[in-house]
Amino acid sequence: MDPMDPTLIDLTIQSLLSNEPVTMHALEAIPRALFVPLFNAAFVGGHKNILTAMVKIWPFPCLHMGSLMIQDTQYELVKAIVESLQILPTQNLGSWGPKLRILDLRENPGYKIVCPQRSTNSLVCFHACTYSEHSILKREAQYTIANSESEDQSAKKPMELLVNLSFDSTFRENDFLTSLLSKVEQSLGSLHLCCRSLQIDTFCDCKIALKILDMKCINHLAVHRASLTEVTRLLSRVACLDTLSLSQITCRSLNGRVFKNFITHLKHMVYIKELNLSSFCLTDHLENLMRAIVPGLEFLNLNLCGLSHNDFKFLAQCPQVNNLKLLNLSNNPVDWEDCEPLHNLLQKVSGTMKYLMINLCHITDSTISLLLPALSHCSQLCIFSFFSNFITMPMLIRILEHLLPLMKLRYVIYPIPVHCYERWQFQDILDLQKLAEVHDQLTMILEVAGRSDLNLITYF
Ligand SMILES: [Zn+2]
Ligand SMILES: [Zn+2]
Repeated sequence: MDPMDPTLIDLTIQSLLSNEPVTMHALEAIPRALFVPLFNAAFVGGHKNILTAMVKIWPFPCLHMGSLMIQDTQYELVKAIVESLQILPTQNLGSWGPKLRILDLRENPGYKIVCPQRSTNSLVCFHACTYSEHSILKREAQYTIANSESEDQSAKKPMELLVNLSFDSTFRENDFLTSLLSKVEQSLGSLHLCCRSLQIDTFCDCKIALKILDMKCINHLAVHRASLTEVTRLLSRVACLDTLSLSQITCRSLNGRVFKNFITHLKHMVYIKELNLSSFCLTDHLENLMRAIVPGLEFLNLNLCGLSHNDFKFLAQCPQVNNLKLLNLSNNPVDWEDCEPLHNLLQKVSGTMKYLMINLCHITDSTISLLLPALSHCSQLCIFSFFSNFITMPMLIRILEHLLPLMKLRYVIYPIPVHCYERWQFQDILDLQKLAEVHDQLTMILEVAGRSDLNLITYF
């Protein structure tokens, strides 16, 4: 058979899947080149028995499920795959024996099911953990140093289970996560649960899980609705974050010990590239926070952070924002009598910034007219969002004209101009007819300028 002929591979796989008992019996005789496409097809077709049998004799060191786009209904299959991991000494597995060392359940359409093998690489796979003391890499180094006798080593090889976890209110009922944790427990230390992305929506339901996890492995940490004390306790256990997202965080005083501790831990995050803060009041204290961040930040979200004029002044000068690709300052209404700091900030990031959001910031015609020179220098800008600000139609047209030469710009999310609202008994009523005319007029400007690649959107 020519393994390169896709039609022939498809036919072979269909015939293997339609004869489940025969295939199960003959798995070890199946050519290696067919293993990955057969696994793919068995997963999509829900052939649980074939999948679990394949995992038991998987002939490669890694198995990444990321490209299979796991649906909610398929978690039973994934659970069965995890359960079939050979973590304890096993016998009678034939000549192949289990080679699988890394099972990766993280969603990522870009991952190959099996990594290309490099003979010189001491890592089991490109995605192997390099942080935890329980990682394959560190444990195998320990074996080498101790020159251990081979009896246990061959019987209980360290393995890794790579996951992204999300703890929300449904976690306690989540059978799947419970089964992951019990598998780790059964392994008596040989299976390292390596969590790279952790999202916590409610602390009280995940305390046991947090005890089991090695926080050193986490790259992405997101915490929603927590006290800064709880956040700081977590930060004291992480080592190499590249993304930190905190929303609805409460802190009694920004001058107190808890905030100082938080800043101290933040200083240790030397690889941080993305900082997302939302509903986290930092009025007049942004400087303390930003000084703790190493320069090189790429994404900075400061939505609803109660920023003051002083905070904007500091932001415009600090080297930490020099290479920003994303800047979100939405929901920070300040008195824009002096908008020089915001102008300087935009000017500073004009060479790198791709995404800019300044929604709901009480920006008026006079403010934005002063920002236009800096905005028109943002040559990399792809998305500009400034909805829910007090802008008139003539100014909206002027803004659009300044944006037209930015050839990378694809989306502009604009505010509904003030004339579309009618005040009626203290309630703003939107005139949809006027809004439709606004959209037509703006679209016409795009057409005349030959910028039909630019999309105009608004929200109401
Ligand atoms: Zn791999
Ligand atoms: Zn790890």
